[in-house]
Amino acid sequence: MKVAVVKENAPGEQRVALVPETVPRLTQAGLEVLIEQGAGDGAWFPDSAYTKAGASIVTTDDLYATADIILTVTRPGEAQVGKLRAGQAVFGLLAPLIDPELAATLADRGVTAVSLDGIPRTLSRTQVMDALSSQASVAGYKAALIAAAAYGRFFPLLITAAGTARPAKLLVLGTGIAGLQAIGTSRRLGAQVSGYDVRPASKGEVESLGATFIELTAVGDGAGQGGYARELTAGERQAQQTELAAHIARHDVVITTAQVPGRRPPLLVTADAVKAMAAGSVIVDMGASKLGGNVAGSVAGETVVTENGVTIIGAQNLPSTVPTAASNAYSRNISALLLHMVSDGTLRIDTSDEIQAGVVVTHDGQVVHPAVAELLRPAERTGGAEDVDRPGN
Ligand code: NAD
Repeated sequence: MKVAVVKENAPGEQRVALVPETVPRLTQAGLEVLIEQGAGDGAWFPDSAYTKAGASIVTTDDLYATADIILTVTRPGEAQVGKLRAGQAVFGLLAPLIDPELAATLADRGVTAVSLDGIPRTLSRTQVMDALSSQASVAGYKAALIAAAAYGRFFPLLITAAGTARPAKLLVLGTGIAGLQAIGTSRRLGAQVSGYDVRPASKGEVESLGATFIELTAVGDGAGQGGYARELTAGERQAQQTELAAHIARHDVVITTAQVPGRRPPLLVTADAVKAMAAGSVIVDMGASKLGGNVAGSVAGETVVTENGVTIIGAQNLPSTVPTAASNAYSRNISALLLHMVSDGTLRIDTSDEIQAGVVVTHDGQVVHPAVAELLRPAERTGGAEDVDRPGN
């Protein structure tokens, strides 16, 4: 079987789905690896490195004409979808819960869609396949660096002949995978770090990194299903925003990462909270999206400076800005999933397998993933699908 790696088509996307180091794992499993010309350039993997690792470099047309399985990082664009043919399989972060229409199109074309977003995340054997975690971790690291670069003072305590600089006070709101990595990175840069999450289980993780966990009195246990946060009630949200505002005002830098699966990101930093921050403060909103983010006034992909001198950075696709590390990790994730689904050199679709049940979205002309199929049912289309937004995928 021919497994092909495409050059990513999303604007600004620098990652690649497979790095040269992983090629031998696939060839040893009896798979032939094809690489679209220049696919690894953005992540500093030249075609020659792939050839050396045992892959063949092919043109775009040859790739779509001959591949059995196509590996991608993000969703294929319209032009790419138009080139796919029945019997082919596409593996990638296809975000079918945000974009179920893509799944419907792929099913119509007879393409098998396998989305890494759906990997069950709490099984120990799926850790190696968990692309959401690996990419969130890269994003959290970069968010801390962006904050440090935008901040007009030092992060660490510095005692010099020219005076003493106090350490920056940094607050991370949402301490899942990205938030914990942002905490660790900020701590390594010397900032004084606090963290807050609506899931109380997060307290121990925050403290184990040497940061202070902030507990709010106004909001109870916000844990939902599968280790994720639940959506708070309107009353809880308001109480949370009000209580958080006092903490935010005492910090120089805020990094927000909060998400709730399948919903728009919660607003944690209100316009009043931003107004109460000192001039020179920096906020990095990792939840920024076209529907709004965690911070009032943040614009996805842009940096806004408020009238009171607060810089709000609407972070977008941070993993792509650390393309080599992000691709290395993603390559391990996608190859582990692929090898789980291949035996005797052939892709075996079996949705009775717990992992495959989560990732196989379309097969044999049908949308087989129940949650995606549900979104595509006519009655559901008007009932909230437009409210769904998971940025960063
Ligand atoms: P995520 O990207 O969905 O959300 C980021 C964080 O925002 C989460 O910690 C969430 O609790 C928090 N959040 C949501 N709403 C909030 C609000 N109103 N106020 C404050 N915080 C809010 O989360 P994630 O990073 O993908 O991870 C979510 C959970 O899944 C974590 O518990 C993580 O440990 C768990 N997880 C477990 C495994 C595993 O068991 N192997 C693997 C991956 C993730």
